[in-house]
Amino acid sequence: MQLRLIYPKFKKFLEDHPVLRESLKEHVVGDYTMPPSLALPIIAALTPDDIDVNLTDDNIGQPIDFDEKVDLVVISCFTPQAQRAYEIADEFRKRGTLTIMGGIHPTAIPEECLEHCDSVCVGEVELVWERILGDLAKGKLEKLYKAEGVYSLGDLPVPKREIFPADNYKWNAHLVLTMRGCPVRCAGCPIPHKEDVGFRFRPVENIVEDIRSMPYRQFYFTDDTVMLPGKKNMRFLLEIMKHTEQLDVSIFLASTMMMVSDPEFYRKLRKGNVESMYTIFGFDQVSKNLLSKDCSTRDWNYGIDLVRMIEDSGIHFFASFGIGFDDQDEGVVDRILKFSDDARIDLAEFYIVTPYPGTPFGIQAANEGRILHRNYNFWNHGNVVFKPKNFTEKSLMDSFYRLWEEFYRNKTAESTLRSFDVV
Ligand code: SF4
Repeated sequence: MQLRLIYPKFKKFLEDHPVLRESLKEHVVGDYTMPPSLALPIIAALTPDDIDVNLTDDNIGQPIDFDEKVDLVVISCFTPQAQRAYEIADEFRKRGTLTIMGGIHPTAIPEECLEHCDSVCVGEVELVWERILGDLAKGKLEKLYKAEGVYSLGDLPVPKREIFPADNYKWNAHLVLTMRGCPVRCAGCPIPHKEDVGFRFRPVENIVEDIRSMPYRQFYFTDDTVMLPGKKNMRFLLEIMKHTEQLDVSIFLASTMMMVSDPEFYRKLRKGNVESMYTIFGFDQVSKNLLSKDCSTRDWNYGIDLVRMIEDSGIHFFASFGIGFDDQDEGVVDRILKFSDDARIDLAEFYIVTPYPGTPFGIQAANEGRILHRNYNFWNHGNVVFKPKNFTEKSLMDSFYRLWEEFYRNKTAESTLRSFDVV
């Protein structure tokens, strides 16, 4: 049997804003291509060796051969990729080739995806992949494969990243899975819905084996849950650091502002070769307090101290500020710029909140009739796709421009990109 895995293209934040993109090109980390999500190399690793598996990364412009004779086309996507995923699936279907979709978007709205593909995997693919392959061999794929229960991350194989077209990415940082699930339930996040509301940790030895197996230096732990306050998560991350401090690696972590506040913790992360902390200001309570018009001096200073604690430990703080939330007013733009100045943040991106299907905010916006359109090409955080509450659509877009322009007015690329090894 032959499988073709496809990672559809999605537009970066500034792709619809060429003037802004051009003027900021030396600063904008979010514009870089990097290797795809781990779902596809995990599928490759779970597939028996006698099945031929190949990947096309549409995101870096690899051509898709719609006439290729394969037994199954497997498409993994999140919402900004969904329009393109639908186009790709439609083309293969026209030619009679079976297609299956999985990932965050298909898990949220499988019925819509089934208008374009033959089958959808809902939830964690590891739990149903063997069944899918068995049914494919028998020639009778079901419409829906719903993963029941939760997958034990101790069983996760090392993802087969060899299927990636190596050396084609501008930022060659490889994703590493550390844990799944989250009980926090931020209103804009699909994770609790897709991965359940309990934490599941991948065994530290498997994480280290995964890192050691790769001929790369840069690794990106995208699970922001490792940074949530709590002894268990802290211990888990510090245990990983004991190993990574002995390796010649550079690690990028992700977090919300709801994170540990302990200088010693950050010193240990730095010792473990953590280079940068990508921090989302969004639906979590700490960001909300900080950017609200009623923010207390105490909360404001707490935010500044946290940024400085991270920077002073030698870790580059990379802020990602969201605008357009229902509890924000237009004054949030001034507050973001002031906070960035006060905390001396030199690397940031700015996004417009997007009501992803399946998230509490997405469901609420849809129920209130506030969705402007469902052309997912524009659901990439760089466009207004819903009716905001305290902004007009135009003022939200103008705020997005103003933030990017004003923040970078006095920044140099040497400073903003100091922690990124890009080609
Ligand atoms: S944004 Fe992070 S903390 Fe919030 S629900 Fe999602 S995974 Fe949990």
